[in-house]
Amino acid sequence: MLQWDLKGKRVLITGGTRGIGAATVHEFIALGAEVLFTARTATDDPRCIACDVTSPSDRAQLVVALKDRWGAVDVVVNNAGTNIRKSWVEMNEQEHTHVLATNLLGPAALLRELHPLLKRGRSPAVVNVASVAAFVDVGSGGAYAMSKAALIQLTRSLAVEWSADRIRVNAVAPWYIRTPLTEPVLSQPDRYARILSRTPLQRVGEPHEVAAAIAFLSMEKSSYITGQCLAVDGGFLSLGL
Ligand code: NDP
Repeated sequence: MLQWDLKGKRVLITGGTRGIGAATVHEFIALGAEVLFTARTATDDPRCIACDVTSPSDRAQLVVALKDRWGAVDVVVNNAGTNIRKSWVEMNEQEHTHVLATNLLGPAALLRELHPLLKRGRSPAVVNVASVAAFVDVGSGGAYAMSKAALIQLTRSLAVEWSADRIRVNAVAPWYIRTPLTEPVLSQPDRYARILSRTPLQRVGEPHEVAAAIAFLSMEKSSYITGQCLAVDGGFLSLGL
């Protein structure tokens, strides 16, 4: 019988100290997983490891820590991400590089580096946290949009390439979720009203609602799903007129 829970799963969640990542840590623990999570600024939670996903040396240390602790990894959630809210021409080279390195190149490199441990995992699964900004313009800026679109294409490519190793690779694409990242936008009454007017469910999402989708895609119950991107968007992408 395939599991409807995450009992005994050895899970790495990047960016687990706030917002969607923190909710995912809680959800996974509640479902029985053994979790380690990262952030640039570690908290005093013993499960938290300091690791800037853009730093090759931090990532190398993280891989060693996971190897020493578990010798294998069952689930990787690539959640750490960022944005700088500026137009394409306002953003300088360094800012572009920072967004791409955090949302795409760092997570992509981490997956390559964790591949040997995932291969040894039990029913291994990867979930990448993308965004609806990968599909339509939502005013988040070109660098953010292209980083998330490329992350979804990487999801499809690895789903095929790593099927030989039985590793499933999926993504989620949230619309507005109330977190520290989006608070500066949601606290502007005109922007907030505009967001609700484009959201069929008439509200923004909560971090635990994304965590639930990530948990499902990490479970053995989703064993025949790979290469997919599940929108967690209150109907946003379905709204035409
Ligand atoms: P938050 O800013 O609330 O949290 C981000 C987390 O990632 C923190 O734990 C942060 O810790 C960590 N982080 C940021 N940069 C790095 C880095 N370079 N290396 C390691 N960890 C890092 O973000 P959200 O919870 O809102 O977003 C989480 C993910 O969901 C992101 O990928 C985001 O793009 C995506 N998303 C969010 C949406 C939303 O509406 N909130 C909508 C669509 C997608 P620290 O700063 O200490 O490193």
